[in-house]
Amino acid sequence: MINRHKVEGHYHIFAAMNNTVRVRFAPSPTGGLHLGGVRTALYNYLFAKNHGGKFILRIEDTDQTRFVAGAEDYIQECLKWCGIEPDESPKHGGDYGPYRQSERKAGYLQYAELLVKNGWAYYAFDTPEELDEMRNRFRTEENPSPQYNYILREKMRNSLTMNQEEVMKLLGEGTPYVIRIKVPENETITFTDMIRGEVSFDSSTLDDKVLLKGDGMPTYHLAVVVDDYLMKISHAFRGEEWLPSAPVHILIWRYLFGGDKMPEWAHLPLILKPDGNGKLSKRDGDRLGFPIFAMDWKDLKTGELTTGFKERGFLPEAFVNMLAVLGWNDGSEQELFAITELLEKFSMTKVHKGGAKFNFEKAKWFNHEYIKKTTAAKLQPLVKEALFHKGLVVQEGPELQKVIDLVKERCTLIPDFYEHASFFFRAPDVLDADSVKPKWNDAKNLFFSELIRNYELAQGWNSTTLEHNFKEILAANQLKPGELLLPFRIMLVGGKFGPGVFDIAEILGKEETVKRIKHALYIFGESI
Ligand code: GLU
Repeated sequence: MINRHKVEGHYHIFAAMNNTVRVRFAPSPTGGLHLGGVRTALYNYLFAKNHGGKFILRIEDTDQTRFVAGAEDYIQECLKWCGIEPDESPKHGGDYGPYRQSERKAGYLQYAELLVKNGWAYYAFDTPEELDEMRNRFRTEENPSPQYNYILREKMRNSLTMNQEEVMKLLGEGTPYVIRIKVPENETITFTDMIRGEVSFDSSTLDDKVLLKGDGMPTYHLAVVVDDYLMKISHAFRGEEWLPSAPVHILIWRYLFGGDKMPEWAHLPLILKPDGNGKLSKRDGDRLGFPIFAMDWKDLKTGELTTGFKERGFLPEAFVNMLAVLGWNDGSEQELFAITELLEKFSMTKVHKGGAKFNFEKAKWFNHEYIKKTTAAKLQPLVKEALFHKGLVVQEGPELQKVIDLVKERCTLIPDFYEHASFFFRAPDVLDADSVKPKWNDAKNLFFSELIRNYELAQGWNSTTLEHNFKEILAANQLKPGELLLPFRIMLVGGKFGPGVFDIAEILGKEETVKRIKHALYIFGESI
C-alpha cells in the first residue's frame, strides 16, 4: 500500500498519516451518462479500491437551469449496472452528506462572503445589459471577447470600484449581485497533475469567475472546492475540459483552506470521435450509429430515446474493460482485464496524456470476448430477454444453457442470440430451398426417408449417435456426406448457418428433428 502511494505522488505522506483515500465522481444530472463520464467514474473507483479508499458520488446540481428530472437516479442505475457502486452517495448516505450540492446551498454563502471579507473576491452588480455593453465597448480585433478580468473589473459596477456606503446600500435594497473572484495579475499558478506533471498558468489570462450566482447558488468553481474540502477528498480526477479552470480552483483553495490541503489532481484525457478531431459527442454516436450513453436515456422534454450500451447488447464487464483501456494500459500489450485484475493493476500515473479515439468495432470485439467467456448460466436471463423482445418466449434452464453454449462464439452483441438461436425454439418460417432444389433427386429423397426411420427408432438421442447413423446410411447408399449435410442443415435451421448440425438435432430432440425433415422433404420433393 505504501509503495503504491509513493508511485502515485506526494500524497503518500498524507495518506499514510490519515490512511484514507477519498475520491469522488461528481456528475451534473443533465441527461444521459456519456461513456467518458463512466470512464471517469471507473478510474475513480479503481483508484479508490486499490488504495483501500472510498468512492463517493456527489451530484453537482447547482445549475438549476440545466437540471433534468430523473437524471440522478439514472446515473446511479448506470453505476450499478457497471458494478462500480459508490460507498457514499445521495442513495447510500455517508458521514459527509448531503451528497447533492443543491442541499448544501446554505453553506456556500459564508465561504463566498469570507473571500469578500478578506479581499479575495468582490460583489458585482452589473446587469446582463451592462455586461453586454462592456463586451461590445472593449471588443477589438486582438480581443474579440473581452473578459471581466483584472483590467476591466476596474471599469465595472462592483465593490472594488464603489465606495462602501454605496455597496451597503445596494445590498440593503436587495439589488441582485454575484460574487466574483479577484484574480491577481501577472502571477504564475502551478500545480502537479498526476498524469501531466507540472502545469502552469499565467493568471493574467484568467477572468474573474463568478463564484456565487444571483440566485444564491454557488457556481461549480466555488462548490467544487468547498465540497472537496468538506468531504475530505484526497484525490480529484476529472475530465481534461476542466484543466483551464484549475488555476481558479487553486486560488480558491489557497484563499479558503490553504494550498497544501488541496487534493491531488488528475485531468483525464478526452475520448475522441473515431473520425476527425474533437471530443466524442452524442451527435457522433447518432451519426455513426453507435451508443454513447451507458444505458438507454429518454429525454422527457422531447420524448427522444437514446439507446445505451446496455440495451444495445453489451455486457457490463466488457463495457468496463473497454473503457478502462481507452486511455490506460499497464505497459504491456494486454487488453483483456477482468475487474479483479484492473483493481490490482490500474495506476493513475499510467493514464495517457493524449486523447483516445473511440472505436466501436473494438468495443464490439471486447463484448464478443466477454460473451465467449461468460457462462451460459449467467448469460441466460439476458438471452431470454433478447429473445422475448423478438416475440420468442423461452424458459431458463438446461436446454437454453446448452443452446447458449453452442452459439455464443458466434454472438458479438446479446441480440445476436436471436439470429443464432431462434431456430432451436421455433421452426424456420422459410427454408432456403433454392440452395437445395436444383440438385434434389430421388436418391436424396430416399436417403432422408431412411434417416427418418432410423432416427425414429434411435435409442440414444445424442449428436454422436445421430452423426454415426447418418454416416452409416450414407455409406450403405454410396452417397457423399457433402451432398446431404447441407440439405439436412437447411431442413433444421432454414439456411446455411448455425453450429454443428448434429448438435442442433440433439437439442431439437427426436420429435422436432423428424418433423422438420418431413416438412422439408415435402417442400424439396416438389421439385422432382
Ligand atoms: N460537475 C462536473 C462535471 O459534470 C464535475 C467536474 C469535477 O469532477 O470536478 O463534469
